[in-house]
Amino acid sequence: MTMFDIHTHILHGIDDGASDLEQMLLMARDAASQHITGVIATPHHADGHHWNPGERIRRLTDEANAALRAANIPLTIYPGQEVRIYNRLLEDLEEKIVLTLNDSRYLLLELPHSHIPRETADMIYELQLMGIVPIIAHPERNLEIARDPRRLLELVQTGALAQVTSHSIIGHSGKKVKQIAMDLCKHRLIHLMASDAHNRSLRNFNLDTACEAIVDTLGQDFRDYYTANASSVMNDQPIEVWPADARMRKKFFFFGR
Ligand code: FE
Repeated sequence: MTMFDIHTHILHGIDDGASDLEQMLLMARDAASQHITGVIATPHHADGHHWNPGERIRRLTDEANAALRAANIPLTIYPGQEVRIYNRLLEDLEEKIVLTLNDSRYLLLELPHSHIPRETADMIYELQLMGIVPIIAHPERNLEIARDPRRLLELVQTGALAQVTSHSIIGHSGKKVKQIAMDLCKHRLIHLMASDAHNRSLRNFNLDTACEAIVDTLGQDFRDYYTANASSVMNDQPIEVWPADARMRKKFFFFGR
């Protein structure tokens, strides 16, 4: 089966991901060994620490792919970005400073850990007017969503998709985050799973292990849905948004209180 990973920090020398060329190649080998054939590089942008315009990401992606070919590693890296909401986001998207995932309609949006910025819903709406579908990265790590998953439901109802991180699913971010991640998945508030891989130790790919955990806990349908949607992002195809689980809503809404 072809596997795609739509959220990685595999490019080196650009953010807090791979530290150098050697680490990038080792990460690439790890990905290939898990039957991942393509990954989208999503360096941080406009998060207060990193400023990575699209042009730079495209250049580094080309260089990385040349290095992968030279090393005979069967993996292709595609350009993308993990973007925080900021003032000029929409203008910078038009000017190609902000990149979507592999030039598709999908944009990977990162929330701060502590809260959901007030302008988030408006931004999701504005992006859709431009034909862009925002994907909220790792909502399970946002404290406001952890406290009240209805906040994610609202964003999904506004038109965003949500991507859970494989580490959260297998418990590498702690028991509580794992519980929240699984609960969001179970209630069909999650549409994609990706690694958010940063390095080879604590934040590795782990997509295969996470897929097994999803199948064990929630069933094959969930895994198939996430896998198919990652392909849709890669190929710029529409994603069918499954309805959030209404039967469990009450219990779900009381979760964590
Ligand atoms: Fe990330």
